[in-house]
Amino acid sequence: MKLPTVAELSPRQQTGAWRRGVQRLPWTDETAIRAHCTSCGDCRDACPEAILFEGPAGTPMLDFRSGSCTFCQACVEACSEPVFFDTAQKPWNLIAVPGESCLLMSGVSCRSCTGFCDHEALKFDLRVKPVGAIIVNSESCTGCGACISVCPSDAISMSSVVEERLMT
Ligand code: SF4
Ligand code: SF4
Ligand code: SF4
Repeated sequence: MKLPTVAELSPRQQTGAWRRGVQRLPWTDETAIRAHCTSCGDCRDACPEAILFEGPAGTPMLDFRSGSCTFCQACVEACSEPVFFDTAQKPWNLIAVPGESCLLMSGVSCRSCTGFCDHEALKFDLRVKPVGAIIVNSESCTGCGACISVCPSDAISMSSVVEERLMT
């Protein structure tokens, strides 16, 4: 099923979408997009994960609700404008952050997200009462977003805050 664009969402839905992981592409930022992107759509067409879509201003956005970024660089290679940074650099400083709607916060046992992280960045800590908590290792997390769409309570978002987070 094709996801609606952010522009097609209600204002309230838009707020939720941005919070949950709709953002700019890797190896670029808002300034570079605004300065150089021509909204041609070549990056969106090139993404094999189909996680890129046209944002409200016509420029590309990435939606982790659709899947994860493999950092394949196909979007970068497809772009003929100086939108993207040197791919030898880190693609971004994003890390996953479990939020208050995590089922563990309600005392319900869940660890769905931990099994989907290829980088073992999410750990279940049984020491946190009453039923444990998820710890994010900011050193291991790549910000790929694979954990976002598998969360049954839509609790994981991305943050550029580079520090270890503990749900308490
Ligand atoms: S790096 Fe690859 S998977 Fe990630 S947004 Fe670009 S084309 Fe898509
Ligand atoms: S390929 Fe480059 S110029 Fe075209 S929409 Fe994507 S970022 Fe913008
Ligand atoms: S964003 Fe990717 S690397 Fe980070 S915790 Fe989620 S699945 Fe693991």
